[in-house]
Order: sequence, then structure tokens, then C-alpha cells
Amino acid sequence: MFDIDKIRAEFPILKRTVNGKPLVYFDNAATSQTPQVVIDAIVDYYSNYNANIHRGVHTLSQEATDKYEEARLKLQQHFNAKKSHEIIFTSGTTHSINIVATGFSSLLKKGDEVIVSALEHHSNIVPWQMLCERTGAILKVIPMSEEGELLMNEYDVLLSEKTKVVFVNHVSNALGTINPIKEIIDKAHKVGAAVLIDGAQACPHIKPDVQELDADFYVASAHKIYGPTGVGILYGKEEWLNKLPPYQGGGEMIKEVTFEKTTYAGLPHKFEAGTPNICGGIAFGTAIDYANAIGFDVIAKREDELLQYGTEKLLEIEGLRIYGTSANKTAVISFNLDSIHPYDIGTIIDKLGIAVRTGHHCAQPIMDFYKIPGTIRASFSFYNTFEEIDLFVEAVKRAKVMLE
Ligand SMILES: *Cc1c(COP(=O)(O)O)cnc(C)c1O
Repeated sequence: MFDIDKIRAEFPILKRTVNGKPLVYFDNAATSQTPQVVIDAIVDYYSNYNANIHRGVHTLSQEATDKYEEARLKLQQHFNAKKSHEIIFTSGTTHSINIVATGFSSLLKKGDEVIVSALEHHSNIVPWQMLCERTGAILKVIPMSEEGELLMNEYDVLLSEKTKVVFVNHVSNALGTINPIKEIIDKAHKVGAAVLIDGAQACPHIKPDVQELDADFYVASAHKIYGPTGVGILYGKEEWLNKLPPYQGGGEMIKEVTFEKTTYAGLPHKFEAGTPNICGGIAFGTAIDYANAIGFDVIAKREDELLQYGTEKLLEIEGLRIYGTSANKTAVISFNLDSIHPYDIGTIIDKLGIAVRTGHHCAQPIMDFYKIPGTIRASFSFYNTFEEIDLFVEAVKRAKVMLE
């Protein structure tokens, strides 16, 4: 049974008010809220066993190391990686992508081709553009349809033996579209290209199985999956992680250092230079446990109901247009109202306690496609309610009256 009151009680922030009104938090695609168990894990770490890992012989250091490595095992299990050292702790999706994009500099040559999708977040566009500038490789883009879906027949045309790497997000953060990543991966493998899947937006709703997908790289951020900011993962197949050079030099990532030559540590340490976000990694593991205890099927079903309800209610408002109308999408509603600037609506409804995102959502090419400056984006999580959607729709109607 899905007990919404019990679930909401687990998130302390949902009790607060904003501008004298109860908080309605519909900015989950930017960052999700954190349940008490995750907050407790953070407090426990700093209260009881804060120490640097992997180096100390003392008890605290060993306790911290054990918990950190335990978290890595939880993530290995969650993503179904074959080996625990295929899970690299990073500071988040952006960091993970940069490790791979920078690493590919040494593997690409002039004239090689790199494919990204039209639906990408800036963090999955800019590092590849920089890679192409460094290597002379050519960036190709899978175009999208009016509904916000990738045109897969165009993808077929782009693929060739020149294609070396393909980068797509699992779910678009701006529109919510769930991309057919299994098909994208299989087709890329047929021409011998590697595939990186940006799972930042998918992981709060979907439990990915990297072996079943046969993804070469899969990346995500804890803060979008009910965990803390500043920590994330890079999953990579062992053979690929071995091929890539280290991203940063420093402590933790070496085997032996002399002034003549340094040899690097094995996986995962080769990519984990310096003192990591120890507490964050441990709390990430707790957040994953929390979400799995609720169940990703339960989360997805609840969010789908919220999406259907919110979509129907919003479309009752005259002049409202939703961008991203794929039948296969997560609980993200990106919309505009007549020619009103999204920022103006966002500002008014914030006065009523409602948090949404306005702007280009780090996906300017999508906004250019629709020839708009941005949208208002409401993104729901399983802890949101139908009553909150009613408040939100009323607030949008009020803003419309005030601005027209
Ligand atoms: C949020 C997001 C990112 C960036 O994640 P960070 O945690 O800011 O590094 C990248 N891609 C997608 C699809 C996202 O939603």
C-alpha cells in the first residue's frame, strides 16, 4: 500500500512554508528532496566516524572505509554492474561525463565521428564539443520531432564505421522524454561505437540494468535520487575504464610515485584522485536503499498518475501549450502560456509557495528547436500530491489573469 502521509512525513522539508504558504515543490528534475534516513546517515558520519579513507590503520579510518566501500557495493547491485570496481564515485553527472569525454581525447583522431542527441543537457553537449575541438572529430546530432522524440531513422543514417562514440540521455530533463536507449546502444555496437548514457534524469524513476542494456558507460547524480549534492557515479565496463587514461592526478590514484615515473592504481582508484566526498558516497548508498524499499515500480506508477492528472488539469487552461508530448515520458511538464514570459509566471507562483523551474533548463538547443526562450517546467516526484497539483493549476490561472 502506498501511504502518502507516511511518505511525506519522512521528508522534513515538505513541512515548511514559503511566503506564508505550504511549500509545493515541483522542481524535482533539478534536485529531489532528501528523506530523514539520508539526513541521519550524514549526521551519523560526522558525529561518529568522520575520517579519511583507504589510508589509516586507525579504527575510525577503517570504519569510514568499510562504509564507503559498502555504499559502492550497494550501487553495484542497484545498477547491476558485473564488478564493484566498475562503479567510480564522482562529484556528479557532469564530472562523470568529463572523465569519459576527456579520456576519449587519446582514443579519437581527426575525421572520427561522435553522435549526440538533440535532447541533451548542456553537460552532455559541451564536453563532447571540447573533445571534438581537441581531436578534430566531428560532432553529429540525432534530430528530434515536434513531440520531443528522437528520430531513429535519422540516427540510422548518421551511424557508420566512422562513428566512435554515441552520447544520449536516458530521459530528457527539459521534456521528460524516455529515449529508446536499448535500441540506440545495440545499433551503435553494430558499427563498433561505444555508448555513454546520461542517466541523471532517469535514475529517480527507473532502475537501470547496465548489463542488460549493454551500456559502455552510465552516469548519474545522487542529488536527483533523494541523496545529497556533490556526489555521483560513473559506471564503465572494465575494458573501457582500463582503456581511458586517468582524469586527475593526485593522492589515492597512484600505485607508485617517483620523480621519474608514476604508475597508476587499479580500478576504481585510478579515477578517484584525492579525498572523495566520503559522507556523500555513504549517504548515496542510503538513498538508493530508501528508494528500493519503496520500489521503483511503485514510484513510477505514482508519478505517472500525477503526470496524467497534471497534464489534464493544465490543458484546461486556454492558451497553454505543453512541449514534449511523447507517450513515453517521466513526470515532467514543460509549458508556456500564450506569449507570457515563463519567468513572470514563475515569480508570481513562487509568491504562492510553489517552486517550479523557468528558463532553458540547460537545454538551449531544444528551446531553439521550438523557437522559444524557455518554458515553465513542473516536475513531480512520488511524494507530491494531487492537491498540490490543484493549488499549482489555480496559481497558474491567477498569474495568467494578472499578466494578460
Ligand atoms: C541534472 C542533469 C545533469 C547534470 O547533473 P549535475 O548533478 O548537475 O552534474 C546532466 N544531465 C541531465 C539529463 C540532467 O538532468
